[in-house]
Amino acid sequence: MKTNLLDRRTLLKMAGLTALTAALGQGCMARPTATPGPARHRPMPVLVAEDRIIRTDVALRPFRPSGFVVRSVRYDAKTVIHNYGHGGAGISLSWGTAALAVAEAQQTGAQTCAVLGCGAVGLAAARLLQRHGWQVTIYARDLPPATFSNVPGGQWAPVAVCDFSKMTPEFDQQLRLASRFGLRALQDMVGSQYGVRWLDHYILKNEPIQLPWYHENVRDLLPGHVDLQPSEHPFASPYVRRTASLLVDPSIYLNAVMRDFLLAGGRIVVREFNELAEILSLAEPVIVNCTGIGAGSLFADEEIFPVKGQLVVLLPQPEIDYILGAEGMLSMMPRQDAILLGSTREPGVWDLTPNPDEIERVAAGHAKIFNAMRGT
Ligand SMILES: Cc1cc2nc3c(=O)[nH]c(=O)nc-3n(C[C@H](O)[C@H](O)[C@H](O)COP(=O)(O)OP(=O)(O)OC[C@H]3O[C@@H](n4cnc5c(N)ncnc54)[C@H](O)[C@@H]3O)c2cc1C
Repeated sequence: MKTNLLDRRTLLKMAGLTALTAALGQGCMARPTATPGPARHRPMPVLVAEDRIIRTDVALRPFRPSGFVVRSVRYDAKTVIHNYGHGGAGISLSWGTAALAVAEAQQTGAQTCAVLGCGAVGLAAARLLQRHGWQVTIYARDLPPATFSNVPGGQWAPVAVCDFSKMTPEFDQQLRLASRFGLRALQDMVGSQYGVRWLDHYILKNEPIQLPWYHENVRDLLPGHVDLQPSEHPFASPYVRRTASLLVDPSIYLNAVMRDFLLAGGRIVVREFNELAEILSLAEPVIVNCTGIGAGSLFADEEIFPVKGQLVVLLPQPEIDYILGAEGMLSMMPRQDAILLGSTREPGVWDLTPNPDEIERVAAGHAKIFNAMRGT
């Protein structure tokens, strides 16, 4: 029989989350917004030209208007803990929703579990369960580098997660906790081993720039935002802000986390599931569902849909050490293996074929910005 365990566990869970919150720094005294110092050096232009394009990558964001799902569902002797639907922020939120999922798992009394999915969300959940003493087996159809989590630049920014008009107070709390946990956990992974680094993020706008919703929630974990005068930056834009941002390079990061998982005794089984009965026949008593967009058909979730995104991938430029975001949904992120130009959002589109009109729009928009940089 299927029973939703969320309600009767709310009090216990909140107690667990309070402890997690303290452990991850929510209890720290909030600092006033710091003013970041000067940029390390003047940003260099990205070379945008047809003969520098090495490919176009496409992936599907697993989007639910009411937000990601982290909750337990009981099926007779099995407990399924959902952890999916992270929209445009699965890398940012992965360790945070893993903490929420682990809080659910700890209440089962078990110590052995299956994690379904080996993208950013599944790997973070699997590692956090191991750190709490669990024996974990990952079951997944695709492993890195073939997951959708391998595609983006992985900037820490909990955005495009939900439709805010559909947000419940319960989800608001989960999102705030997951954002803080996610950011704090990635701070511990900064370095070449995990491909996580702090970079300057330049935001270019035609109008005064608003603070993002998450600023107040994480202001003690992220340095402040500073508006720049024209003499302080090379961009031809009326409003320019510089912030500090964490960037995860999934081509390094996912392999490193997968290696940690295996070194800690984890097991990986390559397997595709086609229906719920196959999942419930697994030996493990607890199953953590991190199948991203795959969760919709496996668990009959009619709310989830893909938001197709594609990135124009350029030859790497080691001198590019900043992130850029601009009007017209333009973004640039540097990875070790490439420069990524985005972004696109096509809701409800499952087709993974690159859209040539969007390649043209994104490449032309970035060429205009970088060709107009002063002093270069
Ligand atoms: C263009 C673009 C840019 C983005 N930029 C950012 C960003 O800057 N920062 C950020 O935080 N996020 C970003 N995102 C969002 C982020 O990529 C996703 O939220 C994240 O990858 C979701 O991770 P996941 O592990 O849930 O899913 P996935 O990476 O899709 O992994 C799902 C796993 O489940 C497995 N699976 C699915 N179905 C089945 C099945 N039936 N049987 C067996 N296994 C199955 C898959 O094989 C895979 O292993 C971006 C997304 C796109 C498209």
